[in-house]
Amino acid sequence: MCRWPVGYWDTGRTADTRTTVGWVLVLLDLDGTLTDPHEGITKCVTYALDGLGLPRLNEQALRSFIGPPLQDQFASLGLDEGGVDRAVDLYRERFRDQGWHENRVYEGVQEALQALATVPFGLAVATSKPTPLAERIVRHFGLDQYLNLIAGATLDGSRRAKADIIRFALSSLGVDPADAVMVGDRAQDVSGAHAVGLPSIGVTWGYAEPGELEAAGADQIVGTPGALVAALVGRHDRLRDGE
Ligand SMILES: [Mg+2]
Repeated sequence: MCRWPVGYWDTGRTADTRTTVGWVLVLLDLDGTLTDPHEGITKCVTYALDGLGLPRLNEQALRSFIGPPLQDQFASLGLDEGGVDRAVDLYRERFRDQGWHENRVYEGVQEALQALATVPFGLAVATSKPTPLAERIVRHFGLDQYLNLIAGATLDGSRRAKADIIRFALSSLGVDPADAVMVGDRAQDVSGAHAVGLPSIGVTWGYAEPGELEAAGADQIVGTPGALVAALVGRHDRLRDGE
């Protein structure tokens, strides 16, 4: 967490200058957008279900855990509140120990962050994963050098909806919704952004089901980290050049 882009925070940028360079803050989802957590998440879900003596899930059901808040996914299996709490505790027991590093950065993401950091955009992670776990993963992969903030869920789940995490990130950095864009791989990234008044860019290399991002109303959809950079930088340059 070392860089602060020029502009918005320290030069009195106003609504008038906003339109000349466009967004100043890019909010990035973590799971399925920057990193592929499939192995860690699916093994931890299975560990939790085994611990509770519940039947294991098939691959498609396991994949649905990647993105939405954990509490909501366990509740969707029909667990009551106590069952959800026990499942989350078991999940985290394994995740803290092993699951967090059963994870990898998607090809091209490191380069994309590097490119976006020089534009310059402010960059922040906005994830439904608890902040301490998200920080550990981001630092493990050395992505923190590009980021102004890692905004995640609270451990007690009181802040876990994507819209609440986006609001928290914006208020932490003092950025207006009109000056930010949300990038993510699932419907809740899109709907969370729209609930706060941000546009959204959907990425297709993560865990969305076919048509999910379109149905959620993503403002733009990109297929590679390079295309994401082109979309953001291209918009920035067009606005700067007054086209
Ligand atoms: Mg995601």
